[in-house]
Amino acid sequence: MKILLIFDNSIWFSLRKLKTMLTSSSKFSLQLSWLILYSLSSLMIFKKMFSPAVSIIKLVIIFLTQFEIAYSAENYNKYFANEKGIVSIMYHRFNESRYPSTNIQMDIFKKHINIIKNAGYNFLNPSLLPKIFFEEKSEKTFLLTIDDGYLSFYEHAWPYLKDNKIPFLIFISTEAVGKKGYMNWQQIKEIEKNEFVFIGNHSHSHDYLINFSFEEFKKDINKSIDIFKTNLGYNSIFFSYPFGEWNSKQKKFISEHFDFAFGQHSGVIDLNKDQYELPRFPINEKYGDLDRFNFLVDLLPFQYKEVIPEEKMIENNNLPEMKVKFFSEQKIDNVNCFSNEGSGWDSSNLEIENNILKIKFRDKFNTRRGRINCSIQDDQGWRWFGVQFVLKHIKDN
Ligand SMILES: [Zn+2]
Repeated sequence: MKILLIFDNSIWFSLRKLKTMLTSSSKFSLQLSWLILYSLSSLMIFKKMFSPAVSIIKLVIIFLTQFEIAYSAENYNKYFANEKGIVSIMYHRFNESRYPSTNIQMDIFKKHINIIKNAGYNFLNPSLLPKIFFEEKSEKTFLLTIDDGYLSFYEHAWPYLKDNKIPFLIFISTEAVGKKGYMNWQQIKEIEKNEFVFIGNHSHSHDYLINFSFEEFKKDINKSIDIFKTNLGYNSIFFSYPFGEWNSKQKKFISEHFDFAFGQHSGVIDLNKDQYELPRFPINEKYGDLDRFNFLVDLLPFQYKEVIPEEKMIENNNLPEMKVKFFSEQKIDNVNCFSNEGSGWDSSNLEIENNILKIKFRDKFNTRRGRINCSIQDDQGWRWFGVQFVLKHIKDN
């Protein structure tokens, strides 16, 4: 399946054009394409895909995959889906207790993995995301993600994940590769060879990119794409925004070069979520305690149509008017939200009208990241979503 991710962006763009010429294709034929795609890809994995004869099949598969992603992304209508969602969790460092806000101790990490396994859930192979994202997910899965490519990941977590063949997605910032405390390309290539390992792009500089001019931003991303192509032979279809920060213009640019992008706001992924603003639960020593982890393992998607405003960058500390539009099937009378404006975390002031939730912020935000987390309990369990605004002119603390 790895080959599905290995494509050149120029092919992708010409395929998009071709796709618009073929929009009369029925969903049935697309499903048929998927069937063919999966049969061919299983066959190819079987044959290890090294024969030159399969190159043509590879191209066909790449075509079908991209065609399907483009079709799904641009044509599906949002609707209230009966689904269990994907819980995406994010780690950084392992056994580096000097950095408690980004570290997890391996004994706790293993407990997290076992909690997920013992609850009967599976880890999602990232190669399946392009397909499964657009479906109603009848079973909950977990997407394990690791950011930054620290050497402590390679030394401590990798041997364990390798032994247990646990699929994961690791996001690499290309400038740091090979520097002290980070993996080098040889190590990245070594883990990438495994079919359950996927490398994502995490920019070149890992700087506070929303403080960059758009030209500087593009230069940074293009540089990382070039370095990916030089070292791995392809750019990833997965991106994660450094510090979970983006603005709308940058998000649009990312959407032209990647298929999925992850932030650092909490929440469960469902088919209605914006595929370039995917939520993840950050796990570290402070937020890695087992009670919290048990709670988040059971969370369900809290589906909505839209969060307004789309722009998540705030300039000059002008408070956004935040609204969330829900589907009529999603009752929100008992919704609870917490937000961190003013002096810090407290219950948000809410107004509900016509199934639209309005959050009236108590005060201005005083931290770089303005966060809002909402939850609701129904007969199936707890549902959760988070939103993060970034205050461009406030320094990180
Ligand atoms: Zn990072």
